[in-house]
Amino acid sequence: MSDLADLSVGGAAAGLRAGEFTAVELLEAVHRRAAVTEAELHAYLTIDRDGAARAAVAADSALRAADDPGPLLGIPVALKDNMVTRGVETTCSSKILSGYRPPYDGTAVSRLRAGGAVIFGKTNLDEFAMGSSTENSAYGPTRNPWDPERVPGGSSGGSAAAVAAGSAMIAYGSDTGGSIRQPAALCGIVGVKPTYGLVSRYGLIAFASSLDQIGPLTRTVEDAVAALEVVGGHDPADSTSYPGSFPDMRSGLEAGVSGLRIGVVAELNGAGIDPAVQAAVDETVAGLERAGATVVPVSLPSVAYALSAYYLIAPAECSANLARFDGVRYGLRRHGETVEEMMSTTRGEGFGPEVTRRILLGTYALSAGYYDAFYGQAQRVRTLIIQDFADAYEQADVLVSPTSPTTAFPLGARTEDPLSMYLSDVCTIPSNMSGDPAISVPVGVDENGLPVGFQIMAPALGEPVMMRVAAEVERQAGFTARARLATSEVG
Ligand code: GLN
Repeated sequence: MSDLADLSVGGAAAGLRAGEFTAVELLEAVHRRAAVTEAELHAYLTIDRDGAARAAVAADSALRAADDPGPLLGIPVALKDNMVTRGVETTCSSKILSGYRPPYDGTAVSRLRAGGAVIFGKTNLDEFAMGSSTENSAYGPTRNPWDPERVPGGSSGGSAAAVAAGSAMIAYGSDTGGSIRQPAALCGIVGVKPTYGLVSRYGLIAFASSLDQIGPLTRTVEDAVAALEVVGGHDPADSTSYPGSFPDMRSGLEAGVSGLRIGVVAELNGAGIDPAVQAAVDETVAGLERAGATVVPVSLPSVAYALSAYYLIAPAECSANLARFDGVRYGLRRHGETVEEMMSTTRGEGFGPEVTRRILLGTYALSAGYYDAFYGQAQRVRTLIIQDFADAYEQADVLVSPTSPTTAFPLGARTEDPLSMYLSDVCTIPSNMSGDPAISVPVGVDENGLPVGFQIMAPALGEPVMMRVAAEVERQAGFTARARLATSEVG
C-alpha cells in the first residue's frame, strides 16, 4: 500500500499498533489527499484542522500508553453536516443554519471522541438531508469521484465521496429513505442503515424522526462493523433508542452463507431497474447460490405504495421538526416589523426550494380535513409494509435487491423533475418504513465503469445475518476497482 489514505480501518489500526506510522502521519495522508480531491469534489463543508490535529496527537499518546479504547483509535473520520459537533459549524447544508456552532456533541459524536477517532471534517449533504444527489445543498453540489460530471448520490453524498476518494477513512451519514445506501452504491463503497433505534439520534438534526437513522459509509464490510460498534448501543438521551444489548455482527463474518435462505424481492428487481444494474445483482445472487445459499422468490406487495406513503410521512414529520428554525433560536435572522414577518422572511430566505416544498406538502398532509385522507392513509400503508416484511422473513433470512435502480447520473439530470429524483430511492425506502436494517455492498460496474450496489435487507436486529451475507458478497464480488479521483497525484 503506497498511500496511507487508502488503507482500510483494520489495516490502519494494525499499522498504528505495530508502530509502522503514527496517527499524525495518517491524518497528514488524508489531508494530502483532500488537498488534491477537494478542488474537484467538494465533499466537505468544513475541515476541522485544529480539532483533528489535537485528536491525532492524543491518539498517538494513547497508543504509546497502550490505553486502547477500540477499533477507531487514531482513524480519520468524516461526519455528515447534520450531526451536531460542539463548537464546529453545523449547517445541514442550509442557509438557515449558516454560522451555527452547536454547544454540544451528539451521542454518536461523543462516542467517536471517546473511542479516539480523529474527526476530520463535516461533509456536504442535500439541505436537511432532503434529496438523492447532494445538489440540494445551499453551498453547491458534491461531485462523484468516479466521474466528476456525475452526482455522488445523496443525501450523504459528501460522506460517500470522501470515503471513495480517500479524503476520509470512514464517514457517517443519516438514512431516512436511502441516504446512506444510495450514495454508497453510487460511489462504490459500503453503506449501512442500522435497525431503527440501534444508533442514538441524539444530536442528529431531525428530518423525519420515525425514519432517521445514523450509519457508516466505509470501504469494507468489516470497517462498517467497527464503525457501528463504536457509535451503537443504548442511549437514555434518545427515547427511541433500543434498550437491549448490541448485536454481535463480527463473529459471523467468516461463516459464509451455506444453509441461508436469500429472498429475491419480486417488486424490487427487474422492472424499472437498469439492465446493467440488474445483471450485476443477478450475478451476485447466483454467486450466493453457488456458495451454498438457497435462493427463494418472495413478494412484498405493499412496497408498490411505499414511495407514495413515504412522501406523506417524511414531509409531515419534517414540517413539524423544521418549525424550530424560526429566526429566534438558531442561525439566520432577517428583519421584520412584526415577529411573524421576521419569522416568515427568515424562513423564506433560509430554506431552499426542496425543503420549502416538503414543509408545504407536510403541512397540507397534516391539516384538519386532510389528515386522515393523507397522513392516516400513509400510516396504514406503513403497517401493511411491516406486515409484508414479517411474512417474507418467514420464508427467507435476508432479502436482496439493487440498492438503486441506476448508477450515478449526470449533474442536473433530475433537478427539474422532483418525481424522477424521488424514484432514486424506490429500493431503499421500504426498510426505513419497516425500521429494519439494510446494507449496500459494491458488486460491479456498468458499461461506463460506474459502480453498482447490491442491497441486503434483514429483519429488525438482524445485523448479524445481514453482515454475514454482506461479507460473502464482498468476497465473491472481489470489488477492488477504485474511483478515478482516489489519488494523491496532482494533475
Ligand atoms: N432521497 C430521500 C428524500 O429525499 C431520502 C433522503 C434521506 O434518506 N435522508 O427524502
